[in-house]
Amino acid sequence: MIRVTGPHSVARKEQKQLEVRFRVRPLVSQMKYSIKAHPTKYAGVQFRSRLEARWAAFFDLAAWKWDYEPIDFEGWSPDFRVEFPCKHSECRPSHVLFVEVKPYYSIEEFRGHPCLDYPYGGIAEVDGEFTFLIPADASAAFGATPEITYWCMGHGCGGGVEEILNWVDDTTMKWRQAGNIVQWHVR
Ligand SMILES: [Zn+2]
Repeated sequence: MIRVTGPHSVARKEQKQLEVRFRVRPLVSQMKYSIKAHPTKYAGVQFRSRLEARWAAFFDLAAWKWDYEPIDFEGWSPDFRVEFPCKHSECRPSHVLFVEVKPYYSIEEFRGHPCLDYPYGGIAEVDGEFTFLIPADASAAFGATPEITYWCMGHGCGGGVEEILNWVDDTTMKWRQAGNIVQWHVR
């Protein structure tokens, strides 16, 4: 009897553990999903994720003009078109970017994405003439925070690699504020 009940109780214990595991796992994965992509409404626009809504609120706090999902390029639909002022005498009054937003914590994670394919507006030679492949200064990668941003554009008589921190003051405060704003706009 002992030899029978022993393994039996062990099997029951294992089964209980399995039940617990199966009960817990779907809950955990649902939680992860809702954190990663929770549709959020802000400024009358339904965003696919809270991160996108937070970026929109951040643009407003930085006084940048923005449009959500404004255009389809071949193989890429940018999340935003943004426009921000530039005081440099050799620049037009503003710069324009097409932005991809991803919940990434390093620019490396964007590698291979079309949002890195159009530095300086994607200059190409077509029929012997130089032309821009996108109607903007550059394509851009914006990650999980303003510290994770990257683009490459002409500015003044030169230009090069840029990031949000070069163009917006008090980014930490504005980012926190943007987070508070969209937190109460979840649908
Ligand atoms: Zn400029």
